[in-house]
Amino acid sequence: MKKKVYMILLALVLVITGCTSSNNKDNEKINVVASFFPVYDLIKRVGGDKVEVNNLTQTGDAHSFEPGIKDMENISKSDLLAINGAGFEGWIDQIKSSQPDLKILDLSEGIDLIEVDGHTDPHTWLSVKNPQLMLEKIKDKLIEIDKKNEAYYNENYEKALEEFKTVEKKYDEELSKYKGRAFIAPHAAFNYLLQEYDLEQVGIEGINSVNEPNAARMKEIVDIMKSKNINIVFYEYGQSDKIAQTIAEEVNGKVLPISTLEVITQKDVDNGMDYIKLLEMNLENLVTSFE
Ligand SMILES: [Zn+2]
Repeated sequence: MKKKVYMILLALVLVITGCTSSNNKDNEKINVVASFFPVYDLIKRVGGDKVEVNNLTQTGDAHSFEPGIKDMENISKSDLLAINGAGFEGWIDQIKSSQPDLKILDLSEGIDLIEVDGHTDPHTWLSVKNPQLMLEKIKDKLIEIDKKNEAYYNENYEKALEEFKTVEKKYDEELSKYKGRAFIAPHAAFNYLLQEYDLEQVGIEGINSVNEPNAARMKEIVDIMKSKNINIVFYEYGQSDKIAQTIAEEVNGKVLPISTLEVITQKDVDNGMDYIKLLEMNLENLVTSFE
């Protein structure tokens, strides 16, 4: 039923936008829709002022996000829809079948995906290496769409790549000291990072960030913290620290933010928060947790 309503809404949007798009050439920029913050940030870096990027998930939980009517209108008018892929955007098949001509860039294509309990873990963007591969895919796609600005995109790509490599170097230097160590994550989102640095996460919530922890899970986490001598509990940057505080109090510990890059508000973006700064914050707080 839900799917049916969705398809009708989409058909309506296509009719409405079809009527207006011919006289709607208000600029020459490439119009890209990004499914959520990390994708948005990477496209901004490579596209610069030649690309207009619209971030679909500006508030709320990116895991449970579904595009509304305004979003579908933006998607249908765009030159490119860029997604993380790896199953993160559960709504993408509906878009593909209703808009078969839409250009879609899947940033996880070609990345080695991690399987957890028989399912693909979609959190590819939380490694420090993967965004570098994603930048290259974005650069290639923008050049394919807009060949005349090839040199511009190449230059932006090289600069962005350099910034991520600098962060990677910091991660390598710092995290190599803490092999085998565990941290308490707000949800089990960090497998791609763990794989690179031989770390362990204990997720307060599971991989899809949908289940509030029950009392038994909270007690399990407290026990793990005591046995592993951990006294920092991470809460999701931009969300409440209440659950983390409750757990931390049990071990006389502290709470710190860590970002999965899933809940960045437009206000954060307007204040200059970006992918690199969040990765740096995560590193700093991880080191504090391990010290
Ligand atoms: Zn997640």
